[in-house]
Amino acid sequence: DNNSNSSITADVQALDADHHMHPFTNTGALNKKGARVITHADGVYLWDSEGNKILDGMAGLWCVNMGYGRTELIEAANEQMKQLPYYNTFFQTTHAPVAQLAKEIASVTPGDLNHIFFANSGSEAIDTIMRMVRQYWSIQGKPYRNIIIARENAYHGSTIGGTSLGGMGGMHNQGGPLVPNISRIRQPYWYGEAGDMSEEEFGILCAKALEEKILEVGPDNVAAFVGEPIQGAGGVIVPPANYWTEIQKICTKYDVLLAADEVICGFGRTGSWFGCETLGFTPDIMSMAKGLSSGYLPIAAVAVGDRISNAFIGHDDDFNHGFTYSGHPVAAAVAIANIQLMKKDNIIDYVAKDIGPYFQQKLREAVGEHPLVGHIEGVGLVAGIALVKDKATKAPFSDDIDVGMICRDHCFANGLIMRAVGSRMVLSPPLVISHAEVDELCDKVQRCFDLTL
Ligand code: PLP
Repeated sequence: DNNSNSSITADVQALDADHHMHPFTNTGALNKKGARVITHADGVYLWDSEGNKILDGMAGLWCVNMGYGRTELIEAANEQMKQLPYYNTFFQTTHAPVAQLAKEIASVTPGDLNHIFFANSGSEAIDTIMRMVRQYWSIQGKPYRNIIIARENAYHGSTIGGTSLGGMGGMHNQGGPLVPNISRIRQPYWYGEAGDMSEEEFGILCAKALEEKILEVGPDNVAAFVGEPIQGAGGVIVPPANYWTEIQKICTKYDVLLAADEVICGFGRTGSWFGCETLGFTPDIMSMAKGLSSGYLPIAAVAVGDRISNAFIGHDDDFNHGFTYSGHPVAAAVAIANIQLMKKDNIIDYVAKDIGPYFQQKLREAVGEHPLVGHIEGVGLVAGIALVKDKATKAPFSDDIDVGMICRDHCFANGLIMRAVGSRMVLSPPLVISHAEVDELCDKVQRCFDLTL
């Protein structure tokens, strides 16, 4: 009943306010109004302690790809907990879950990305890539090749390595100094930054920025270029179709390693196992996390192609890197069950050929002509919507109107989780979402845009 709901809410909020420091949050401000208490979840829905049912348009944080309440994943964790809850693979040991998961991942990665290093979060996977590509060049006798090039408005996590590599000014301003020998180029944000250029011209221009940067710092000093196939936390920015193929050519020309951060795009989000397949390139190394276990337990991985793996495996030295929970058996068992479930449910085809196109079309039908909407971009089950004051001129709202937050709060109050990134609204629902649930999602988006107007 309402009274006991209210007391659960108040009790949890009081504990939270007394002791919990929230990530990426002004905790003091949040404590004054109280955090919403999420109690349980099923399929694509969450419930809060007041009994409200909420459609999770973000799959948690872009991670609960196979939806909530999957007994296959729950049972895999339970069984592995009983069998072997923990052991490491540091000291000449291994175990079945980690070995089998490495094989499962290799079975879905493109190209020769067949050697797998484990971590627990996307940030740790990114730190692993940063250390690996630099160490790769050291093994080649070229330790001076240590500059890593990334992009403005990229998100690569919030460890000191991930923060430094990413292009988020608000993060750079806190907790510095940053990791040295990182360079950045512009993002390929066509709607926001291309002026009158066609997508094709702009794709070339943005890729050329990589070549210019390589020449500026000296090709012999560059270890790798790192990018998200589609920028996620930056607002779901889908690059022009020619962008990544040009980037790949430039990396090949200057012998620069190409790293894909697949933490969001991996595991079906774009309608392929990995975003690089949808965007048309093949990296030398890539990070993955989130969808690897559908978020049920923390686990991440780096898939390493032959060029880099041969150097490490053929080199007579330890790689002095790893985490206590690298390849944690319970997380690995859940990830195995998750990949097998994805295969059994044919989820990649469902996103590529059925629900992904349906979602993209429905979203455009629902709000494409809405006066708030400047542009919609997306592929598969991820989308970004630019909110503007003036559709024709693309003029943004004035600085004192945080239109994204206003819209997000309307969603929040109306049973929909949709995230705001500045004035861009982003969606990334569970891949198992049904047609009827997509209809409901798009109706809610439209209603919340109406309320925001
Ligand atoms: N890389 C990308 C592309 C991400 O989107 C994220 C998280 O959203 C990360 C890295 C960091 O992952 P984690 O939060 O698991 O450390």
